[in-house]
Amino acid sequence: MEYEVVVGLEVHVELHTESKLFCSCPNSFTSDPNLNVCEVCLGFPGTMPLLNSYAVTQALKASLALNCEVSLHSRFDRKNYFYPDIPKGYQISQYFIPIGSGGFLEIESEAGEIKKVGITRVHMEEDAGKLVHASTGEYSLVDYNRAGVPLIEIVSEPEIRSPQEARRYLEKLKSKMQYARVSDCKMEEGSLRCDANISLRPQGSSGFGAKTELKNMNSFKAVEKALEFEIKRQTELLENNEGVKPQTRRWEEDKGKTIVMRDKLQAHDYRCFVDPELAPIVLTTEEVENTRANLPEFASQKIERYVNDYNLPQYDAEVITADPKLANYFEACLQQYPHPKTVSNWIMGDFLALMNAEGKEPDKVLFTPSYLVELLKLIDEGTITGKMAKDVLEKSFDSGTSPREVVEEEGMEQISNEDELAEIVNRVMADNPSSVNDYREGKKKAMGFLVGQVMKATSGKANPQVVNEILKHKLEED
Ligand SMILES: [Zn+2]
Repeated sequence: MEYEVVVGLEVHVELHTESKLFCSCPNSFTSDPNLNVCEVCLGFPGTMPLLNSYAVTQALKASLALNCEVSLHSRFDRKNYFYPDIPKGYQISQYFIPIGSGGFLEIESEAGEIKKVGITRVHMEEDAGKLVHASTGEYSLVDYNRAGVPLIEIVSEPEIRSPQEARRYLEKLKSKMQYARVSDCKMEEGSLRCDANISLRPQGSSGFGAKTELKNMNSFKAVEKALEFEIKRQTELLENNEGVKPQTRRWEEDKGKTIVMRDKLQAHDYRCFVDPELAPIVLTTEEVENTRANLPEFASQKIERYVNDYNLPQYDAEVITADPKLANYFEACLQQYPHPKTVSNWIMGDFLALMNAEGKEPDKVLFTPSYLVELLKLIDEGTITGKMAKDVLEKSFDSGTSPREVVEEEGMEQISNEDELAEIVNRVMADNPSSVNDYREGKKKAMGFLVGQVMKATSGKANPQVVNEILKHKLEED
Protein backbone atom coordinates (compact mmCIF):
# COMPACT_ATOMS: atom_id res chain seq x y z
CA MET A 1 0.00 0.00 0.00
CA GLU A 2 1.14 3.55 -0.72
CA TYR A 3 1.30 5.76 2.36
CA GLU A 4 1.10 9.51 2.67
CA VAL A 5 3.44 11.20 5.14
CA VAL A 6 1.80 13.59 7.62
CA VAL A 7 4.20 15.84 9.54
CA GLY A 8 3.52 18.69 11.94
CA LEU A 9 6.35 20.63 13.55
CA GLU A 10 6.57 22.24 16.98
CA VAL A 11 9.37 24.76 17.04
CA HIS A 12 10.61 26.48 20.18
CA VAL A 13 12.35 29.77 19.61
CA GLU A 14 14.07 31.64 22.44
CA LEU A 15 13.19 35.31 22.26
CA HIS A 16 15.95 37.87 22.08
CA THR A 17 15.46 40.05 25.20
CA GLU A 18 17.70 41.62 27.86
CA SER A 19 16.12 39.74 30.75
CA LYS A 20 14.10 36.61 31.42
CA LEU A 21 10.32 36.37 31.08
CA PHE A 22 9.29 36.95 34.70
CA CYS A 23 12.41 38.22 36.51
CA SER A 24 15.37 40.51 35.85
CA CYS A 25 18.00 37.78 35.42
CA PRO A 26 19.98 38.27 32.18
CA ASN A 27 18.78 36.32 29.17
CA SER A 28 22.20 35.44 27.84
CA PHE A 29 23.84 32.19 26.86
CA THR A 30 26.67 31.24 29.20
CA SER A 31 28.43 27.96 29.79
CA ASP A 32 28.88 28.61 33.54
CA PRO A 33 25.98 26.81 35.22
CA ASN A 34 23.49 28.52 37.56
CA LEU A 35 24.89 32.00 37.03
CA ASN A 36 21.75 33.69 35.69
CA VAL A 37 19.37 32.72 38.47
CA CYS A 38 17.30 34.32 41.24
CA GLU A 39 14.49 33.40 43.66
CA VAL A 40 11.81 33.91 41.00
CA CYS A 41 13.23 31.69 38.26
CA LEU A 42 14.29 29.13 40.88
CA GLY A 43 10.65 28.98 42.00
CA PHE A 44 11.16 29.88 45.67
CA PRO A 45 7.93 29.96 47.65
CA GLY A 46 6.42 33.40 48.09
CA THR A 47 8.02 34.97 44.99
CA MET A 48 5.86 36.61 42.33
CA PRO A 49 6.43 36.67 38.57
CA LEU A 50 6.48 40.05 36.81
CA LEU A 51 5.97 39.99 33.03
CA ASN A 52 8.72 41.35 30.75
CA SER A 53 6.73 43.51 28.32
CA TYR A 54 9.44 43.43 25.65
CA ALA A 55 9.03 39.66 25.42
CA VAL A 56 5.38 40.30 24.51
CA THR A 57 6.49 42.75 21.81
CA GLN A 58 8.84 40.09 20.44
CA ALA A 59 6.10 37.42 20.47
CA LEU A 60 3.78 39.86 18.73
CA LYS A 61 6.36 40.53 16.02
CA ALA A 62 6.86 36.79 15.52
CA SER A 63 3.10 36.19 15.25
CA LEU A 64 2.71 38.91 12.64
CA ALA A 65 5.77 37.72 10.69
CA LEU A 66 4.03 34.34 10.49
CA ASN A 67 0.79 35.90 9.24
CA CYS A 68 -1.15 35.07 12.41
CA GLU A 69 -4.31 36.59 13.82
CA VAL A 70 -3.36 38.27 17.10
CA SER A 71 -5.41 37.85 20.29
CA LEU A 72 -5.87 41.27 21.87
CA HIS A 73 -6.60 39.48 25.15
CA SER A 74 -4.55 36.46 26.08
CA ARG A 75 -3.44 34.85 29.34
CA PHE A 76 -0.74 32.77 30.93
CA ASP A 77 -1.61 29.32 32.20
CA ARG A 78 0.13 26.77 34.38
CA LYS A 79 1.10 23.49 32.81
CA ASN A 80 1.71 21.13 35.73
CA TYR A 81 4.24 18.35 35.66
CA PHE A 82 7.12 17.17 37.76
CA TYR A 83 10.63 17.09 36.40
CA PRO A 84 13.88 18.27 38.02
CA ASP A 85 14.54 20.90 35.34
CA ILE A 86 11.36 22.76 36.27
CA PRO A 87 11.79 24.16 39.78
CA LYS A 88 8.20 25.35 40.35
CA GLY A 89 6.61 22.02 39.44
CA TYR A 90 4.77 23.80 36.62
CA GLN A 91 5.65 25.70 33.49
CA ILE A 92 4.03 29.05 32.73
CA SER A 93 2.69 28.83 29.19
CA GLN A 94 -0.26 30.00 27.12
CA TYR A 95 -2.49 26.98 26.90
CA PHE A 96 -6.03 28.28 26.49
CA ILE A 97 -5.48 31.46 24.46
CA PRO A 98 -2.26 31.82 22.45
CA ILE A 99 -1.06 35.28 21.38
CA GLY A 100 -1.12 34.27 17.69
CA SER A 101 -3.16 31.73 15.70
CA GLY A 102 -4.26 30.82 12.20
CA GLY A 103 -1.11 31.92 10.38
CA PHE A 104 0.88 30.41 7.52
CA LEU A 105 4.35 30.12 6.06
CA GLU A 106 5.02 29.79 2.34
CA ILE A 107 7.49 27.13 1.28
CA GLU A 108 8.47 25.45 -1.95
CA SER A 109 6.66 22.10 -2.24
CA GLU A 110 8.07 18.83 -3.57
CA ALA A 111 6.54 19.74 -6.93
CA GLY A 112 8.41 23.06 -6.92
CA GLU A 113 5.28 25.12 -6.33
CA ILE A 114 4.59 27.65 -3.60
CA LYS A 115 2.73 25.93 -0.79
CA LYS A 116 1.18 27.47 2.30
CA VAL A 117 1.79 25.51 5.50
CA GLY A 118 -0.72 26.52 8.14
CA ILE A 119 0.46 27.72 11.55
CA THR A 120 -1.98 26.60 14.20
CA ARG A 121 -0.67 28.75 17.00
CA VAL A 122 2.16 30.85 18.38
CA HIS A 123 2.21 30.94 22.15
CA MET A 124 4.55 32.35 24.77
CA GLU A 125 6.06 30.32 27.56
CA GLU A 126 9.05 30.11 29.84
CA ASP A 127 11.92 27.75 29.10
CA ALA A 128 12.89 24.96 31.49
CA GLY A 129 16.36 24.42 32.96
CA LYS A 130 18.75 21.88 31.56
CA LEU A 131 19.85 18.51 32.92
CA VAL A 132 23.43 17.51 32.30
CA HIS A 133 23.84 13.75 32.56
CA ALA A 134 27.20 12.32 33.62
CA SER A 135 28.67 10.08 30.96
CA THR A 136 29.04 7.31 33.57
CA GLY A 137 25.29 7.44 34.18
CA GLU A 138 25.94 7.84 37.92
CA TYR A 139 24.37 11.26 38.41
CA SER A 140 22.74 14.23 36.66
CA LEU A 141 23.41 17.91 37.28
CA VAL A 142 20.86 20.64 36.81
CA ASP A 143 21.56 24.07 35.33
CA TYR A 144 18.82 26.69 35.79
CA ASN A 145 20.36 29.41 33.58
CA ARG A 146 17.73 28.65 30.97
CA ALA A 147 14.81 28.42 33.41
CA GLY A 148 12.48 31.33 32.78
CA VAL A 149 14.02 32.39 29.46
CA PRO A 150 11.23 33.68 27.19
CA LEU A 151 10.19 31.31 24.43
CA ILE A 152 7.58 31.10 21.77
CA GLU A 153 6.32 27.79 20.54
CA ILE A 154 5.24 27.73 16.92
CA VAL A 155 2.95 24.83 16.09
CA SER A 156 2.31 24.00 12.44
CA GLU A 157 -0.71 22.26 10.96
CA PRO A 158 0.01 18.64 9.94
CA GLU A 159 0.43 19.81 6.35
CA ILE A 160 4.07 18.95 5.73
CA ARG A 161 4.36 15.98 3.37
CA SER A 162 8.05 15.03 3.29
CA PRO A 163 11.30 15.37 5.26
CA GLN A 164 12.53 17.84 2.62
CA GLU A 165 9.46 20.04 3.05
CA ALA A 166 10.09 19.95 6.81
CA ARG A 167 13.62 21.24 6.27
CA ARG A 168 12.42 24.01 3.96
CA TYR A 169 9.74 25.01 6.48
CA LEU A 170 12.39 25.26 9.23
CA GLU A 171 14.76 27.27 7.03
CA LYS A 172 12.00 29.72 6.16
CA LEU A 173 10.91 29.99 9.78
CA LYS A 174 14.46 30.66 10.94
CA SER A 175 14.96 33.32 8.28
CA LYS A 176 11.73 35.10 9.30
CA MET A 177 12.68 35.08 12.98
CA GLN A 178 16.20 36.32 12.25
CA TYR A 179 15.02 39.11 9.94
CA ALA A 180 12.44 40.24 12.53
CA ARG A 181 15.22 40.15 15.17
CA VAL A 182 13.04 37.98 17.33
CA SER A 183 15.78 35.42 17.94
CA ASP A 184 19.28 34.54 16.79
CA CYS A 185 17.96 31.00 16.12
CA LYS A 186 21.22 29.24 16.96
CA MET A 187 20.40 25.56 17.06
CA GLU A 188 23.81 24.78 18.55
CA GLU A 189 23.02 27.01 21.55
CA GLY A 190 19.45 25.75 21.76
CA SER A 191 17.77 29.02 20.83
CA LEU A 192 15.85 27.14 18.12
CA ARG A 193 14.63 23.62 18.86
CA CYS A 194 12.30 21.45 16.91
CA ASP A 195 10.05 18.49 17.72
CA ALA A 196 8.32 16.66 14.90
CA ASN A 197 5.03 14.78 14.93
CA ILE A 198 4.81 12.18 12.22
CA SER A 199 2.24 9.64 11.12
CA LEU A 200 1.39 7.77 7.95
CA ARG A 201 -1.96 7.19 6.31
CA PRO A 202 -3.08 5.37 3.20
CA GLN A 203 -2.68 7.58 0.14
CA GLY A 204 -5.95 9.42 -0.50
CA SER A 205 -7.36 8.97 3.01
CA SER A 206 -8.21 12.03 5.10
CA GLY A 207 -8.03 10.50 8.60
CA PHE A 208 -4.94 10.45 10.74
CA GLY A 209 -2.82 7.48 11.75
CA ALA A 210 -1.21 7.06 15.18
CA LYS A 211 1.65 9.53 15.46
CA THR A 212 5.01 9.57 17.14
CA GLU A 213 6.73 12.66 18.43
CA LEU A 214 10.44 12.98 17.64
CA LYS A 215 12.81 14.90 19.89
CA ASN A 216 16.51 15.69 20.26
CA MET A 217 17.30 16.73 16.71
CA ASN A 218 20.16 19.23 16.75
CA SER A 219 20.19 20.42 13.16
CA PHE A 220 17.82 20.75 10.22
CA LYS A 221 19.69 17.89 8.60
CA ALA A 222 19.01 15.77 11.71
CA VAL A 223 15.28 16.57 11.47
CA GLU A 224 15.30 15.40 7.87
CA LYS A 225 17.18 12.19 8.73
CA ALA A 226 15.03 11.40 11.79
CA LEU A 227 11.86 11.78 9.70
CA GLU A 228 13.27 9.57 6.95
CA PHE A 229 14.09 6.90 9.51
CA GLU A 230 10.64 7.14 11.11
CA ILE A 231 8.86 6.87 7.73
CA LYS A 232 10.68 3.60 7.11
CA ARG A 233 10.02 2.29 10.62
CA GLN A 234 6.31 3.12 10.55
CA THR A 235 5.87 1.77 7.01
CA GLU A 236 7.30 -1.58 8.12
CA LEU A 237 5.03 -1.71 11.18
CA LEU A 238 1.95 -0.92 9.10
CA GLU A 239 2.85 -3.44 6.41
CA ASN A 240 3.24 -6.13 9.07
CA ASN A 241 -0.08 -5.12 10.61
CA GLU A 242 1.65 -4.34 13.89
CA GLY A 243 0.31 -0.80 14.27
CA VAL A 244 2.19 2.31 15.36
CA LYS A 245 2.20 3.12 19.08
CA PRO A 246 1.75 6.76 20.05
CA GLN A 247 5.15 7.46 21.57
CA THR A 248 7.73 10.12 22.19
CA ARG A 249 10.95 8.98 20.55
CA ARG A 250 14.42 10.41 20.67
CA TRP A 251 16.75 10.75 17.68
CA GLU A 252 20.13 9.15 18.28
CA GLU A 253 22.44 10.92 15.88
CA ASP A 254 25.36 8.43 16.19
CA LYS A 255 23.16 5.41 15.66
CA GLY A 256 21.07 7.07 12.98
CA LYS A 257 17.80 5.87 14.52
CA THR A 258 14.98 6.88 16.85
CA ILE A 259 14.44 5.08 20.15
CA VAL A 260 11.44 5.18 22.45
CA MET A 261 11.57 7.63 25.39
CA ARG A 262 8.06 7.27 26.80
CA ASP A 263 4.43 6.83 25.87
CA LYS A 264 2.95 10.11 24.75
CA LEU A 265 1.41 12.37 27.40
CA GLN A 266 -2.09 13.63 26.70
CA ALA A 267 -3.00 17.29 27.17
CA HIS A 268 -5.19 16.46 30.20
CA ASP A 269 -2.17 14.94 31.95
CA TYR A 270 -0.91 18.50 32.50
CA ARG A 271 -3.97 19.73 34.45
CA CYS A 272 -3.69 23.22 32.95
CA PHE A 273 -5.34 26.22 34.59
CA VAL A 274 -5.03 30.00 34.34
CA ASP A 275 -2.09 31.34 36.37
CA PRO A 276 -3.66 33.37 39.18
CA GLU A 277 -0.51 35.43 39.74
CA LEU A 278 -0.32 36.98 36.29
CA ALA A 279 -2.59 39.62 34.79
CA PRO A 280 -4.01 39.09 31.29
CA ILE A 281 -1.95 40.38 28.36
CA VAL A 282 -3.92 43.19 26.74
CA LEU A 283 -2.87 44.58 23.38
CA THR A 284 -4.49 47.44 21.50
CA THR A 285 -5.30 47.38 17.80
CA GLU A 286 -3.04 50.38 17.40
CA GLU A 287 -0.10 48.56 18.97
CA VAL A 288 -0.64 45.56 16.69
CA GLU A 289 -0.94 47.70 13.56
CA ASN A 290 2.16 49.73 14.47
CA THR A 291 4.16 46.57 14.93
CA ARG A 292 2.85 45.19 11.63
CA ALA A 293 3.79 48.41 9.81
CA ASN A 294 7.31 48.24 11.25
CA LEU A 295 8.04 44.65 10.27
CA PRO A 296 11.28 44.50 8.29
CA GLU A 297 11.71 43.53 4.66
CA PHE A 298 11.97 39.71 4.70
CA ALA A 299 14.26 37.53 2.58
CA SER A 300 11.63 36.74 -0.07
CA GLN A 301 10.90 40.46 -0.57
CA LYS A 302 14.61 41.26 -0.75
CA ILE A 303 15.18 38.52 -3.34
CA GLU A 304 12.45 40.01 -5.50
CA ARG A 305 13.94 43.50 -5.16
CA TYR A 306 17.52 42.35 -5.87
CA VAL A 307 16.38 40.51 -8.99
CA ASN A 308 14.08 43.25 -10.30
CA ASP A 309 15.91 46.43 -9.28
CA TYR A 310 19.53 45.28 -9.24
CA ASN A 311 19.33 42.72 -12.02
CA LEU A 312 21.02 40.14 -9.81
CA PRO A 313 20.65 36.47 -10.76
CA GLN A 314 18.12 34.64 -8.52
CA TYR A 315 20.97 32.47 -7.20
CA ASP A 316 23.05 35.47 -6.02
CA ALA A 317 19.98 37.01 -4.38
CA GLU A 318 19.25 33.78 -2.51
CA VAL A 319 22.83 33.34 -1.27
CA ILE A 320 23.08 36.94 -0.04
CA THR A 321 19.69 37.01 1.70
CA ALA A 322 20.16 33.64 3.43
CA ASP A 323 21.60 35.57 6.37
CA PRO A 324 20.13 39.01 7.19
CA LYS A 325 23.59 40.16 8.33
CA LEU A 326 25.04 39.33 4.93
CA ALA A 327 22.19 41.17 3.22
CA ASN A 328 22.96 44.21 5.41
CA TYR A 329 26.62 43.98 4.43
CA PHE A 330 25.71 43.84 0.75
CA GLU A 331 23.37 46.82 1.00
CA ALA A 332 25.94 48.85 2.95
CA CYS A 333 28.44 48.29 0.11
CA LEU A 334 25.91 49.35 -2.52
CA GLN A 335 25.35 52.66 -0.77
CA GLN A 336 28.95 53.61 -1.55
CA TYR A 337 29.46 51.59 -4.71
CA PRO A 338 26.32 51.08 -6.80
CA HIS A 339 27.42 48.10 -8.88
CA PRO A 340 25.38 45.18 -7.47
CA LYS A 341 26.80 42.35 -9.58
CA THR A 342 30.44 43.29 -8.92
CA VAL A 343 29.73 43.53 -5.19
CA SER A 344 27.81 40.24 -5.08
CA ASN A 345 30.62 38.45 -6.97
CA TRP A 346 33.18 39.53 -4.40
CA ILE A 347 30.91 38.78 -1.45
CA MET A 348 29.92 35.32 -2.70
CA GLY A 349 33.47 34.48 -3.71
CA ASP A 350 36.51 35.32 -1.61
CA PHE A 351 34.69 37.16 1.18
CA LEU A 352 32.29 34.31 2.03
CA ALA A 353 35.06 31.75 1.70
CA LEU A 354 37.22 33.59 4.25
CA MET A 355 34.28 34.15 6.56
CA ASN A 356 33.21 30.52 6.51
CA ALA A 357 36.78 29.29 6.93
CA GLU A 358 37.16 31.36 10.08
CA GLY A 359 33.60 30.90 11.38
CA LYS A 360 32.97 34.65 11.47
CA GLU A 361 29.75 36.63 11.06
CA PRO A 362 29.36 39.48 8.54
CA ASP A 363 28.70 42.08 11.23
CA LYS A 364 31.73 41.04 13.26
CA VAL A 365 34.48 40.96 10.62
CA LEU A 366 37.27 43.55 10.52
CA PHE A 367 36.86 43.72 6.73
CA THR A 368 33.92 46.18 6.73
CA PRO A 369 31.73 47.16 3.76
CA SER A 370 33.84 50.34 3.38
CA TYR A 371 36.91 48.12 3.00
CA LEU A 372 35.31 46.08 0.24
CA VAL A 373 34.32 49.28 -1.55
CA GLU A 374 37.90 50.61 -1.18
CA LEU A 375 39.23 47.37 -2.65
CA LEU A 376 36.90 47.58 -5.66
CA LYS A 377 37.92 51.19 -6.26
CA LEU A 378 41.62 50.20 -6.19
CA ILE A 379 40.87 47.76 -9.01
CA ASP A 380 38.84 50.35 -10.96
CA GLU A 381 41.67 52.91 -10.64
CA GLY A 382 44.14 50.40 -12.02
CA THR A 383 46.21 50.49 -8.82
CA ILE A 384 45.93 46.72 -8.44
CA THR A 385 44.79 43.89 -10.68
CA GLY A 386 41.80 41.72 -9.82
CA LYS A 387 44.22 38.93 -9.06
CA MET A 388 46.25 41.06 -6.66
CA ALA A 389 43.01 42.18 -5.03
CA LYS A 390 42.43 38.64 -3.80
CA ASP A 391 45.70 38.78 -1.84
CA VAL A 392 44.89 42.25 -0.54
CA LEU A 393 41.46 41.06 0.61
CA GLU A 394 42.95 38.14 2.51
CA LYS A 395 45.59 40.29 4.22
CA SER A 396 43.11 43.02 5.08
CA PHE A 397 40.53 40.46 6.29
CA ASP A 398 43.05 38.96 8.71
CA SER A 399 44.73 42.14 9.97
CA GLY A 400 41.97 44.74 9.81
CA THR A 401 44.34 47.05 7.90
CA SER A 402 42.55 48.93 5.12
CA PRO A 403 43.11 47.63 1.57
CA ARG A 404 44.83 50.87 0.50
CA GLU A 405 47.24 50.61 3.41
CA VAL A 406 47.92 46.95 2.64
CA VAL A 407 48.78 47.89 -0.96
CA GLU A 408 51.12 50.68 0.24
CA GLU A 409 52.78 48.64 2.97
CA GLU A 410 53.37 45.67 0.72
CA GLY A 411 54.36 47.72 -2.31
CA MET A 412 51.69 45.97 -4.32
CA GLU A 413 50.81 48.78 -6.72
CA GLN A 414 50.42 47.71 -10.30
CA ILE A 415 52.97 49.32 -12.62
CA SER A 416 51.15 51.17 -15.38
CA ASN A 417 53.74 53.87 -16.04
CA GLU A 418 54.68 53.58 -19.72
CA ASP A 419 58.24 54.89 -19.43
CA GLU A 420 59.02 52.54 -16.60
CA LEU A 421 57.52 49.58 -18.46
CA ALA A 422 59.19 50.53 -21.78
CA GLU A 423 62.55 50.30 -20.09
CA ILE A 424 61.79 46.82 -18.78
CA VAL A 425 60.47 45.75 -22.17
CA ASN A 426 63.70 46.93 -23.81
CA ARG A 427 65.73 44.89 -21.38
CA VAL A 428 63.62 41.76 -21.90
CA MET A 429 63.91 42.13 -25.71
CA ALA A 430 67.70 42.54 -25.46
CA ASP A 431 67.96 39.43 -23.29
CA ASN A 432 65.80 37.29 -25.59
CA PRO A 433 66.88 38.07 -29.17
CA SER A 434 65.76 34.68 -30.52
CA SER A 435 62.15 35.23 -29.36
CA VAL A 436 62.19 38.69 -30.89
CA ASN A 437 63.37 37.19 -34.18
CA ASP A 438 60.76 34.43 -33.98
CA TYR A 439 58.01 37.02 -33.64
CA ARG A 440 59.32 39.11 -36.51
CA GLU A 441 59.47 35.98 -38.67
CA GLY A 442 55.81 35.36 -38.05
CA LYS A 443 55.77 33.15 -34.98
CA LYS A 444 53.28 35.31 -33.13
CA LYS A 445 53.29 32.95 -30.17
CA ALA A 446 56.64 34.38 -29.09
CA MET A 447 54.75 37.42 -27.86
CA GLY A 448 53.26 35.44 -24.97
CA PHE A 449 56.71 34.38 -23.82
CA LEU A 450 57.99 37.95 -23.85
CA VAL A 451 54.97 39.26 -21.91
CA GLY A 452 55.60 36.49 -19.39
CA GLN A 453 59.24 37.64 -19.02
CA VAL A 454 58.11 41.22 -18.33
CA MET A 455 55.62 40.00 -15.71
CA LYS A 456 58.37 37.92 -14.15
CA ALA A 457 60.75 40.89 -14.07
CA THR A 458 58.13 42.97 -12.24
CA SER A 459 56.96 40.20 -9.87
CA GLY A 460 53.57 40.21 -11.55
CA LYS A 461 52.95 43.91 -10.93
CA ALA A 462 53.11 45.14 -14.52
CA ASN A 463 49.79 46.14 -16.04
CA PRO A 464 49.47 43.38 -18.68
CA GLN A 465 47.45 45.50 -21.05
CA VAL A 466 50.06 48.26 -21.13
CA VAL A 467 52.87 45.70 -21.50
CA ASN A 468 51.12 44.14 -24.49
CA GLU A 469 50.72 47.48 -26.20
CA ILE A 470 54.33 48.56 -25.71
CA LEU A 471 55.73 45.20 -26.72
CA LYS A 472 53.63 44.96 -29.86
CA HIS A 473 54.61 48.45 -30.86
CA LYS A 474 58.30 47.79 -30.37
CA LEU A 475 58.26 44.39 -32.09
CA GLU A 476 56.41 45.62 -35.13
CA GLU A 477 57.92 49.04 -35.66
CA ASP A 478 61.50 48.94 -34.40
ZN1 LIG B 1 15.65 35.00 37.79
